[in-house]
Amino acid sequence: MTDTAVTDTAVTPDPDEFRAEVCDWLAARVPAEPLPSVDTAEGFERHREWERELAAAGLAVISWPAEYGGRDASLLEWLAFEEEYYAAGAPARVGQNGLFLLAPTLFAHGTREQRDRLLPPMARADEIWAQAWSEPEAGSDLAALRSRAVATDGGWLLSGTKTWSSRAAFADRAFGLFRVSLGGHSAGRHEGLTYLLFGLRDPGVTVRPIRQLGGETGFAEIFLDDVFVPDANVVGAPGEGWRIAMSTASHERGLSLRSPGRFLAAAARLVELWQRTGDPADTATAQRVADAWIGARAYQLHTRATAARLADGGTLGAEASLGKVFWSELDIALHETALDLLGPLAEIRGERWLDGYLFALAGPIYAGTNEIQRTVIAERLLGLPRISRAAR
Ligand SMILES: Cc1cc2nc3c(=O)[nH]c(=O)nc-3n(C[C@H](O)[C@H](O)[C@H](O)COP(=O)(O)OP(=O)(O)OC[C@H]3O[C@@H](n4cnc5c(N)ncnc54)[C@H](O)[C@@H]3O)c2cc1C
Repeated sequence: MTDTAVTDTAVTPDPDEFRAEVCDWLAARVPAEPLPSVDTAEGFERHREWERELAAAGLAVISWPAEYGGRDASLLEWLAFEEEYYAAGAPARVGQNGLFLLAPTLFAHGTREQRDRLLPPMARADEIWAQAWSEPEAGSDLAALRSRAVATDGGWLLSGTKTWSSRAAFADRAFGLFRVSLGGHSAGRHEGLTYLLFGLRDPGVTVRPIRQLGGETGFAEIFLDDVFVPDANVVGAPGEGWRIAMSTASHERGLSLRSPGRFLAAAARLVELWQRTGDPADTATAQRVADAWIGARAYQLHTRATAARLADGGTLGAEASLGKVFWSELDIALHETALDLLGPLAEIRGERWLDGYLFALAGPIYAGTNEIQRTVIAERLLGLPRISRAAR
């Protein structure tokens, strides 16, 4: 398998039949009222039930092989699914970290045993995964992380602190990066890292929710105190964690975590809001609405081009940074336009837009900040001179 979970299937012609099936199912099943926030205990479990409904209908992991609960869907079919999913206003994917980040990593770097053991409960939402990478002193500079894995009989003992782990307060398991000692030879910052999987309720793990301004616990800190992890839960080889993590990151920045469907649906809602509430004489706002719609469509076309490239055997690398900067800035501009259209009433009437706006503001931060992405673009795509670590 190549570097992405979704690349080993051929790009097929526009999948109308599949799209119609998805559309019908969503029309019949999407809850009429939005589910409670996924960042609350109740909301998390309600979203888990929704994931189970998707899995029972064979729609949870369509791009995975059938043996793991998928449909062997092509990348274009997956993109069509996402478009219909967001257009229908279906619930947030509570399992997204596992489904869209860890699973592609396991397809590319995991063992057969790991895939057989971990993917089916992930697809059924029996095990929901959190990403445990960031640390108090290692965010943008992820390679500065200090959490350790020390070799012991049959496995590893993990210790350290992880932070900003989305939904870890309620999730079941986590994938993280840990520093190991490579037998006395002094490894560079990137070489001594290992990709490990652990249970959030394993002995020695303490999860402390981080309460946000609105009161919900969308994040958690994770404290690890000699947590035992068997060798079977190392992804790749010890010391290979950086390379593997970068493959996860390209999915996070690129198309799998934020597919165009999300922005196309928001842009369609914005156009509808403009038609309902906009002042035709206000050409400046009309222009912003049009820009948002064009941006969403451009991202859709860009993603299709990426899909074609991947189907041709290409991989997702530093180019993912371009997409990440683009969709995160588009999302903010689109939501700002909606709030401006709603005017002072936005805080009362615009709940969905307001929530969307607050989440959009985080887009330039998570999955690697946009400042860092711009450096990646400058150095690795444009070939500009590298900035020395000291200058950073
Ligand atoms: C909504 C959300 C969800 C998240 N979910 C998770 C999760 O599930 N798991 C997880 O592990 N982490 C998660 N994170 C954490 C996220 O990955 C980090 O916030 C991010 O990597 C930035 O790290 P930091 O917050 O430590 O900021 P810092 O790294 O301290 O950066 C602070 C500022 O300095 C800038 N900066 C830093 N270094 C440079 C440089 N070399 N050049 C130019 N500018 C620089 C940054 O761009 C930023 O503006 C999440 C964050 C958010 C907002």
